[in-house]
Amino acid sequence: MEAKRVDHWLRRAGQLLLAPRCLACGEPGADGLDLCRACTEALPWNRAACPRCALPTPHGDRCGACLQAPTPMTATYAACVYGLPLDRLVPRFKFHQDLACGRLLAELMTRSLATVERPDALIPIPLHASRLRQRGYDQALELARPLGRALDLPLLERVLIRQRETAPQSELDAAARRRNLRGAFAVQARDMLPAHVALVDDVMTTGATLQAAAQVLLRAGVQRVDAWVCARSP
Ligand SMILES: [Zn+2]
Ligand SMILES: [Zn+2]
Repeated sequence: MEAKRVDHWLRRAGQLLLAPRCLACGEPGADGLDLCRACTEALPWNRAACPRCALPTPHGDRCGACLQAPTPMTATYAACVYGLPLDRLVPRFKFHQDLACGRLLAELMTRSLATVERPDALIPIPLHASRLRQRGYDQALELARPLGRALDLPLLERVLIRQRETAPQSELDAAARRRNLRGAFAVQARDMLPAHVALVDDVMTTGATLQAAAQVLLRAGVQRVDAWVCARSP
């Protein structure tokens, strides 16, 4: 092959390798995201939702459950509803080491949460040490790190710890989830806790995990705990 053609081929291959690709469908990315224009426009942003638990509600009203018994979180913000393509991207990030999906999810959170009420610090929901060893990374921390950087919010990494290993929540009903989490979290270095924090996690389903963590923080003297999640499962 003559040199010019090789050069052209190499440049083209470089462009293809480096250009952002849509992680949902493989088309070229747009708007600085690893998502194409069509997939970006179809994103299920969670715009009308209960202010306390982020459950989608018709006009952003408080949901029935929160009217009856408010959650320990003062506010919950979810960037998206847990539907397509989040139900593909989140498991790829969480269980298949696809850290590019994690970066995209963090970027969606940054775009959606940039204008909500700011806490003094972010606290990622921690994994138990044995789960962390197994997986190699902590998905909530991987989301909270770029989010904190982009929004200029401090990250408190080791203040909240998971002291007890728990069964996977996905296989349990709501009551069993709460039981499963009893005593799961603990706070260390209380003196580092500011008055207002936001917990960060990937997906909120029943909210049992976030509630258990919030209760521990409130008991440790935090005045207000919010939750910031990437996707809310209705
Ligand atoms: Zn796409
Ligand atoms: Zn609610």
